[in-house]
Amino acid sequence: MAVPFRRTSKTRKRMRRTHFKLEIPGMVKCDNCGEYKLSHRVCPSCGTYKGQKVVK
Ligand SMILES: [Zn+2]
Repeated sequence: MAVPFRRTSKTRKRMRRTHFKLEIPGMVKCDNCGEYKLSHRVCPSCGTYKGQKVVK
């Protein structure tokens, strides 16, 4: 439910924001090129998946 802006204390606001993560979960480093990519996805920078070249 919406709460008036001033009813939410600084502490409460910060407590809520501890759940905001800097990085998107599921981001892993590529085995081949070391770039960040989504896990279980083909790497967008080198086009490999599980050590195999999938995309040219
Ligand atoms: Zn890669």
